[in-house]
Amino acid sequence: MSMDRRNFLKIAGLSTLLGGVGGAAVLGGFKEEEVEASSSHTRGDRPASTLAMVVDVRKFRNQSEYQRCIDACHRVHNVPAIDEPKHEVKWLWEEDFEHSFPGQAHEFMEKEIEDKSFLLLCNHCEKPACVRVCPTQATFKRKSDGIVMMDYHRCIGCRFCMAACPYGARSFNWKDPREFISNPNPEFPTRMKGVVEKCNFCAERLRKGLQPACVEASAGSKALVFGDLEDRDSEIRKILRTHYTIHRKPEVGTNPRVFYVIGG
Ligand code: SF4
Repeated sequence: MSMDRRNFLKIAGLSTLLGGVGGAAVLGGFKEEEVEASSSHTRGDRPASTLAMVVDVRKFRNQSEYQRCIDACHRVHNVPAIDEPKHEVKWLWEEDFEHSFPGQAHEFMEKEIEDKSFLLLCNHCEKPACVRVCPTQATFKRKSDGIVMMDYHRCIGCRFCMAACPYGARSFNWKDPREFISNPNPEFPTRMKGVVEKCNFCAERLRKGLQPACVEASAGSKALVFGDLEDRDSEIRKILRTHYTIHRKPEVGTNPRVFYVIGG
């Protein structure tokens, strides 16, 4: 496990507490007032929980380890496998350094880092540009744990969120995605043509006391660590204390909650 049992149970407990909220949202029955009610789970100005992920790229040993994480995520979330790049739908994907961290390379950087692949996903930003522009509140940030969620039933397909997201973390269903899912997971809803989708930090799995699917798939290498930034004893806080990490496009000010250990 990538987080100790105590910390994990804390997250699972919180997600269970919010189950009615997160679950309804994922399944399309989201009620705004319930999410507002969840804001009472805060400590002063700080949320009770801020969920985040560390991607330790040093620990990915080969291509198949990246693919295992991607496959696990896409399988449990019924992400359609569409080959045409302009219709592609992705929640978790790989990119090279230049596209992952534009402007952060320099001529003295180790070639090994420049040549590496990086796992990318929605950053569940502290200040999500996508949420600000959504006209229907189909995308919203849970005050209780910072997950940026989608209510597919509220999405009108305007794609403002896609234009606003600086990270390309959202995909639009140009085609009926159901035709491109070979083995649907009955426990997660499929989407319709004309809606946007993205990573949800596995809110539905957290509610059941499970880790995100990608984290579970990387358990052997411990390349992905998920946890609560508000818990100073959590494994993720320990990593952030003891390792130098970077995040994507710091200049845009959204404050990503996905951190990368790239060397050292
Ligand atoms: Fe929104 Fe993009 Fe940030 Fe995800 S990465 S929360 S989609 S702005």
